[in-house]
Amino acid sequence: MSQPQIILLKEGTDTSQGKGQLLSNINACTAVVDTVKTTLGPRGMDKLMVDGQGQVTISNDGATIMKLLDIVHPAAKTLVDIARSQDAEVGDGTTSVVLLAGELLKEVKGYIEEGVSPHVIIRGYRQAARLSINKIKELAIKISKDDKEEFYGLLSKCAATAMSSKLIYSQKEFFTKMVVDAVLSLDQDSLNERLIGIKRVPGGAMQESLLVKGVAFKKTFSYAGFEQQPKAFKNPKVLCLNVELELKAEKDNAEVRVEQVSDYQAIVDAEWQIIFQKLEAIVASGAQVVLSKLPIGDLATQYFADRNIFCAGRVAKDDMDRVIQAVGGSVQTTCSDLRDEFLGTCDSFEERQIGGERYNLFEGCPQAKTCTLVLRGGAEQFIAEVERSLHDAIMIVRRAIKNNLVVAGGGATEMEISKYLRVHSRTIEGKQQLIVGAFAKALEVIPRQLCDNAGFDATDLLNRLRMKHAQPGGTWFGIDVNNETIADNFEAFVWEPALVKTNAIAAATEAACLILSVDETIKNKQSEQPGAGMPRGGMPGRGRGVPRR
Ligand code: ADP
Ligand code: MG
Repeated sequence: MSQPQIILLKEGTDTSQGKGQLLSNINACTAVVDTVKTTLGPRGMDKLMVDGQGQVTISNDGATIMKLLDIVHPAAKTLVDIARSQDAEVGDGTTSVVLLAGELLKEVKGYIEEGVSPHVIIRGYRQAARLSINKIKELAIKISKDDKEEFYGLLSKCAATAMSSKLIYSQKEFFTKMVVDAVLSLDQDSLNERLIGIKRVPGGAMQESLLVKGVAFKKTFSYAGFEQQPKAFKNPKVLCLNVELELKAEKDNAEVRVEQVSDYQAIVDAEWQIIFQKLEAIVASGAQVVLSKLPIGDLATQYFADRNIFCAGRVAKDDMDRVIQAVGGSVQTTCSDLRDEFLGTCDSFEERQIGGERYNLFEGCPQAKTCTLVLRGGAEQFIAEVERSLHDAIMIVRRAIKNNLVVAGGGATEMEISKYLRVHSRTIEGKQQLIVGAFAKALEVIPRQLCDNAGFDATDLLNRLRMKHAQPGGTWFGIDVNNETIADNFEAFVWEPALVKTNAIAAATEAACLILSVDETIKNKQSEQPGAGMPRGGMPGRGRGVPRR
């Protein structure tokens, strides 16, 4: 092994230090931002991405696009990370956060060129971010949960705003209701969005999607005898197992060496005896629907069919977890002690045809802390994007329930904060005044981009917005994308949880400061062997993959 070598240059990497490196990093980030910026807002466009394997993804979601861009520039990768963290923290505002970070960098490019120290800029930006976040918290409007109907309406509005740039917006009434009902059906204390199952069934129209207040999963692999089992029950007892109900001999990889034929017979008999004991115990428990994470073979299937019991083996873990949440009871790992309290129940169980597939549906569940969205649509890519869009909306509704502070969207909040910072900056001495001013200017990128994407005259509308925000009562004025004008977006019900904005500002500032504090890129050639370490594009497993399930 030779001495560790530090190599500064690699093809395409800037070899400069200090100012040159900073400017090159800023340029790289700007290039990335330019790719995603056209997706922002209700009039944003979608991106179609094809990966190395020829897999096609169509998306409007910032985090998904950033992830698939496969960015190799080390500084620009930071932007991928903030999109991902915004996605994990709040679930929406992923394009905005990238755009904001890029704009913060662009605004100070001139100062860097003039030789202003990055530390001055970083200090100014951090201060401005702190001021903005406090101001947003002050401005945000608290919504009351007391009036159920009003609260429902409010959640629908937040969901509609999150969906407004997505494919599903054309069906927004349908989908907002679906999303809000889904979130409200969860346990309101924990609001665990993982208990909202999403199943994709290609075919049909998007309006044929349905919300099952309970659990639905695709019929599992079944053996002979399954056809004779009953497929619908009222108030069935449901038993969930983690037990294999299959003769070992049915598996072809079993190997037993015996000397005599009688020994062999003894083994087979023992095998049968064990499985019959289990089956008898299950029947004695009174269960009518038997689910197992492990296989249920043809002997057991036939046995259950003869006794009017429904069974399904190889149920996926997350489906099983949701069944337990919905019907009650608990997963049993043995059949030796099947007490009544281990079994769950629901109003109805049914195996039903949805599209080209058979589905098992558990409805009217007493615990009802879970639900399932069954999504329909023409193409697989299309349903995948519907799922991502619903995910954003679900996260937003969840946020709105959790901390019920909302602000107006459409650039209204950004303009108000921008004004506030500009006014405040006049009280600051020295260079910091310019930096806080630059931050204020950068915030305007959101309304400007909303205009650009809609084909409006951004200069004119932004001027009018600045004027409005300078007057009392203009706080919530933002872009009205439907009428090419400005409007009070709070009254127009373009609402977003305040958390989307505060988190976006905090994350974008951090990313910008991080990039500004780097003045040299050093590559260690030895850790750059192909195949070694992480795949390009960052950590595996986190955030929204495509496909997600
Ligand atoms: P992100 O990934 O950042 O959420 P979106 O494409 O969802 O990006 O766009 C969000 C932006 O669009 C927000 O600034 C939001 O306020 C704005 N927006 C959403 N709906 C409307 C609307 N009906 N009118 C004006 N602006 C809207
Ligand atoms: Mg959004």
